[in-house]
Amino acid sequence: MIDHLIRQRDYLLDITRALTSQLSLNEVLRMILRSATELLGGRAGLIALSENENAFTVRASYGINSALLHIFTPLLTDIPHEDPDSFVIPELDRKMKIVAQAAGPGFHQVVALPMAIGKELIGVVYIFREPGSQFAPRDAKFLQSFANQAAIAVHNARLYEQVTADKLRLDAILRHSADGIMILAPDLSIESLNLALSRMTGWGVDEAQEAHHDDVIRWSSRTSRLDLGEAVAGGWPLNEKSILYVEGDLRHTSDSSLSVGITYAPLFDGEGQLRNVIANVRDITKFREAEEAKTMFISMVSHELKTPVSVIKGYASTLNREEVEWDRNTLRNGLSVIDEETDKLAELIDTLLDVSRLQLGTFKLHTGPVKLDKLAEKVANKFGPQTSKHSITVAFPKDFPETQGDERRLGQVISNLVSNAIKYSPEGGSIMISGSRMKDALQVSVSDEGIGLTDAQCDLIFDRFYRVDNALTRDTQGVGLGLYIVRSIVEAHGGRVWAEPGREKGSIFTFELPLSGNG
Ligand code: ADP
Repeated sequence: MIDHLIRQRDYLLDITRALTSQLSLNEVLRMILRSATELLGGRAGLIALSENENAFTVRASYGINSALLHIFTPLLTDIPHEDPDSFVIPELDRKMKIVAQAAGPGFHQVVALPMAIGKELIGVVYIFREPGSQFAPRDAKFLQSFANQAAIAVHNARLYEQVTADKLRLDAILRHSADGIMILAPDLSIESLNLALSRMTGWGVDEAQEAHHDDVIRWSSRTSRLDLGEAVAGGWPLNEKSILYVEGDLRHTSDSSLSVGITYAPLFDGEGQLRNVIANVRDITKFREAEEAKTMFISMVSHELKTPVSVIKGYASTLNREEVEWDRNTLRNGLSVIDEETDKLAELIDTLLDVSRLQLGTFKLHTGPVKLDKLAEKVANKFGPQTSKHSITVAFPKDFPETQGDERRLGQVISNLVSNAIKYSPEGGSIMISGSRMKDALQVSVSDEGIGLTDAQCDLIFDRFYRVDNALTRDTQGVGLGLYIVRSIVEAHGGRVWAEPGREKGSIFTFELPLSGNG
């Protein structure tokens, strides 16, 4: 009897030790099973865990050949989830008869014990014994304490799995985030820093570890009043909600600069002690550029609007002077200037309206059959008389197919390209509008012999507000919206447009529309 008690205590000690050691869950469960089975003079044991609402699966076994585990399937069905305190497996005797028939002697008697965490049943422990052997109430009680230990082991392992999975997920997010992310200790030394931030600062991920925040985040200029160090000196952070935002130009180790905005968020522990500061570093170069482009656009548009308005105003007031009697010719000249300038104004306003429709998504196509060759002729005839330095020719193959599209908008595309060809070849030269038929598409190109474009510029000029910075562009009217509208119209037709440097000089703009549809 004493001996039995000592063995019980030893087994429990072993299990407790196993629970707190580094053993895997499977090993701990097997050990619990082995101790329970041996101590009770049993033959074999099984632990079935609840994997989801209704299904139980065998997670550990002892004394059973793994190839024979399927024999025990009847013991995995209809296990009641409710109230582990009054746990009874329905029809256990009948189920054991089926098992015993297949498994042979030694599996006639069974004890089933619930593994529960609070009121939640997470599994069942089965211990099998020879026929005729009896379980003393003391044994059953003891066995239940094993089952409880097993429940704790499973619970801990699942928590651990969950925490590990959460950590892996978080690590992956941090590692692959396009934003720079850095975790700081309360003394502002760096606990970790991700790849994006390593790229932004020039500090290696390992090298930055344990470095001080101020060594890595160096401002070459700052628009925010306080940086992190100054804010901390002033008592930041007060609580979880105190978020600090610092914006400015960050200095890279190579001495180049990058515009960034850093959001610092404090993390407190249960006792209200500051645990970490999480810093999120965002590259705001694009945002800044967009802001600058917008400001430039507003000043450019104002200028472009103001020029014709002041010319109109000047002529109108002059012609309107009461004390002067204008002759017919002067009157006519003055009125045609007003007429031309009003057209320019109307055109600019149309362009601005188109852009705002494009942005709002209210830009609509009115599709029908379009003959691009005829459209090109029309544009050439419109622009021909406006320039004496350029010769505009149209070259389309015979029987150029019709396509579906918005005739007015496609006319606008060709007009914009031809008008640019004239604008950006101030010395004159030949401008050619040509068409070619591809397998599934139609192409129209406009080439000129003007100032031309580099490959890099070709990629940028279709962006909103983009204008190549050179003396000619600076002296030429324009707001950098023409090609943006061209691209939008072509894309709305399911097509594409691109520019390339001309073969000898100048540039070639080509747009392509699918033959089959209207996009
Ligand atoms: P805008 O002409 O009003 O500036 P666009 O969007 O039509 O605006 O053109 C954008 C920029 O592309 C122009 O500022 C110019 O620098 C360049 N560009 C357009 N067409 C040509 C061309 N045919 N040859 C050379 N540069 C061109």
